[in-house]
Amino acid sequence: MKYDHEIIRDLMPLCIDGIASEKSNAAVQEHIAECPACEKEWEQMKKTINTSENVPVPEDTKKYKETAKRVRKKNRWILLKVTLGTLVLALIVGYIGNFIDGARFTARGAAKQCIMEQSIDHYETPVEAKNATKPKLTYIATIKSKDGKAAESYFLEHFPDDGETYVIAGNADRDDILRLGMWIGGGTSGGWAVKDCGISMTGGSFTYENGVKWFGTKAFYVTDKNVKKIEFVMDGQTYELTPDEKGFCAMGYEPYPEPVPDRYIVREGKATDENGKVLYTVQSVTETYGSSEFEHYDWVKASA
Ligand SMILES: [Zn+2]
Repeated sequence: MKYDHEIIRDLMPLCIDGIASEKSNAAVQEHIAECPACEKEWEQMKKTINTSENVPVPEDTKKYKETAKRVRKKNRWILLKVTLGTLVLALIVGYIGNFIDGARFTARGAAKQCIMEQSIDHYETPVEAKNATKPKLTYIATIKSKDGKAAESYFLEHFPDDGETYVIAGNADRDDILRLGMWIGGGTSGGWAVKDCGISMTGGSFTYENGVKWFGTKAFYVTDKNVKKIEFVMDGQTYELTPDEKGFCAMGYEPYPEPVPDRYIVREGKATDENGKVLYTVQSVTETYGSSEFEHYDWVKASA
C-alpha cells in the first residue's frame, strides 16, 4: 500500500468536505480502491457527514444564536443612542453658540443680525428707532472670499415707516476655531438707496484673521430692466458683470496689502442694453445731505 491507512482516514473528512487538494483526493481514491476496510470507512464517513446537516441544532447552540441576535440588537440600539446623543449635543452646543457674540450658522444669518442691529442709524433719535416698525430685510446673495472664511451678504432693507429701501451688506467671518466654525458678524457695508429706475452701486471691505486679511465686494443693484451688462474700472482694472434676474450683480476682491479706499472707488463705468447701447455712465455727482454737500461717483442716465 502506498499510503498508511491512518493517513488516508485522516484525509477522508477533508475530501468529503471538498476542501482537500486534488492530490489528496487521488491518494484516497487510489487507496480505497484496493483496501476494502478503508472503503467501508469512507462510505460510513460520507453517510455520517451528509446526514449531520439535517441533525436538529442542539438547544445550547439555539440559545447561543438567540443571545448573539440579542447582543447585535442591543449594539444597534446603543449605536443609535450614541448617534442621537451626539446630534442633540451638537445642536445644543450650536444653539448655545447662537448666544455667544451673535454667532450664527451661516454668513447670511450673522450678516442679517448686523444689519438689524445697525438699522437704528436710520433714525434721528434712539426713541424714534425704538418706536419705529422694524425694517424688512429681503435676502439677495452672499459673496465669499477665496478661503471661504469671510463673506458679505447683501439684502434689500426696506423701512416701512418712510418707505425707503436700501441695498446693504452685512459682513461676517469664521476664522475663530473656538467658535466651531460659526460665523461672526462684523458690521455693515454700503447701504445705498435703491433707485426707482437706475443703478445703485455699493460695497465695502473689512478685515479678518486678526487683521491679517482683507475682503471686499463691489455690488450693483439695477432697477432698469434694459440694463444687460455693467462694465467698470476699479484699481486700474476693467470688470464686467451681468445683473441676475433680481437685478443684482457683485464681485469679491481681496485688497492687498490693505484697502486704500481710494483705489477701490469706481470712477469709470458704463451700463449697456442688449444691443450694446450705453444707458448709464459713472460720473462724479454732488449731493446735499442735511446742510453739507458731498461728492461721490454714481451711475447717471446717458442722454438720449
Ligand atoms: Zn486502508
